[in-house]
Amino acid sequence: MSDVADFAGEAQALHDADLAERLEHERLAREAQPGTEECIECGDPIPPRRREAMPWVTRCVPCQEFEDHKGRRRR
Ligand SMILES: [Zn+2]
Repeated sequence: MSDVADFAGEAQALHDADLAERLEHERLAREAQPGTEECIECGDPIPPRRREAMPWVTRCVPCQEFEDHKGRRRR
């Protein structure tokens, strides 16, 4: 993927710097709060596959979905 970014030129590089900053911030947040093997909400074990795909997750699937809906839809 980095080959594509190189090809895109300087304007893209500026954009990438912005993105890189955001990614760096995310990475730090992830390191400060390492993924847990158990859901912080209900204590259920988080499936290894899920932790592999998203090492920063701290909730099991149902709890994460609940959080997502809570944050997105207000009613
Ligand atoms: Zn849970």
